[in-house]
Amino acid sequence: MKIKLNDNFNNIEESYLFSDINKRVKAYKEKNPNCDIVRLGIGDVTLPLPKIVVDAMVKASNEMLSKDTFRGYPPEYGYDFLRNAIKDYYSRNKVTLDLEAIFVSDGAKSDLGNIVDILGDNDIYIPNPVYPVYLDSNLMSGRRVHFIEGNEKNKFLPMPDGLDDTAKVIYLCSPNNPTGATYNYVELKKWVDYAYSTGSLIIYDSAYEAFIKDDSPRSIYLIPNAKYVAIEVSSLSKMAGFTGVRCGYTIVPLELTSCDKSVNKLWKRRQATKFNGVSYPVQRAAEAALSVEGIKECQKNLDIYYQNTKLLCDLFNRKGIWYTGGVNSPYIWLKCPNNMKSFEFFDYLLEKANIVGTPGVGFGKFGEGYFRLTSFASHEDTIKAVERLEKLL
Ligand code: PLP
Repeated sequence: MKIKLNDNFNNIEESYLFSDINKRVKAYKEKNPNCDIVRLGIGDVTLPLPKIVVDAMVKASNEMLSKDTFRGYPPEYGYDFLRNAIKDYYSRNKVTLDLEAIFVSDGAKSDLGNIVDILGDNDIYIPNPVYPVYLDSNLMSGRRVHFIEGNEKNKFLPMPDGLDDTAKVIYLCSPNNPTGATYNYVELKKWVDYAYSTGSLIIYDSAYEAFIKDDSPRSIYLIPNAKYVAIEVSSLSKMAGFTGVRCGYTIVPLELTSCDKSVNKLWKRRQATKFNGVSYPVQRAAEAALSVEGIKECQKNLDIYYQNTKLLCDLFNRKGIWYTGGVNSPYIWLKCPNNMKSFEFFDYLLEKANIVGTPGVGFGKFGEGYFRLTSFASHEDTIKAVERLEKLL
């Protein structure tokens, strides 16, 4: 072939993180076949779907059996029944949305990756460490990326202090993956005010909002003027166990304009051109999950994960080990003891306690020296891990 490929892909670092982890675990297991490994590196939910969700999916699937209730292509922006369920969910959290601002997706990752389609040549500011999709999708489209450093001093919640006054695209993730750090109202307001005064756009990833337990904002639209500066991308993956079912949503407010052009209109056009919607049974399942009863059922699973994070947080508090997250997040981000590097601590935990976590450096260079543990393992495995860590650390 002699066609030109997208050379921007040369700028993306190969992601060896999870294959490297698997290789190390496999090698250890080969040497120690009777070892009992506990996995606290999992970034996927493990508890089954609530019954109310599965019932809705089954009912919708059965509707497909009959000529009268069969459905073909769904609307590109989502069925109105689900858009209304999302609108109601937000209004119960004190945010008013226009139905037209809500776009149903097959998960947050797709929209976070695709949003670059509607943006022109801008400087992109991305926190580091963070979920890698923001960086890679911008590099793939040849954007100029700058990192906003998360560190112990700012508790992994970088702020706009020190940024210049030019208009820019800023990604924020709160509660953050991997650090679990969550912006409070005052901090998030500083970002919104900064974006408003500089004419910048915030792409706000709230995929973990349902884990928030304190009074931190669960949507950026709780902050005044946010509808003029922010797109919010969210997901049912972690809040309702939809990682395998696939459903999320993106809010592009009607108020959001740049140089008098409607961002909502552009996203509508982009979706109508490149996306054919989410399946009917999945949208009915999402509607059920977001109902008042559905949220109660989902919360039961989140409470089980929370018991796990609490066990880990209590341990690190007792041991005086510095960490963020845990409270509003399924992730705990800890400083590796004795100034170990991320992978050094990984090997240490694997060999001395048979525990697998995720090296922080895998989420960006400012994650070096830190480590992510998650609450998605079973309660029994988490207890086992805590007992081992109690002895080791
Ligand atoms: N945003 C963050 C911060 C995530 O951690 C993840 C998944 O782990 C996603 C988005 C993707 O979610 P989805 O399953 O909806 O694509």
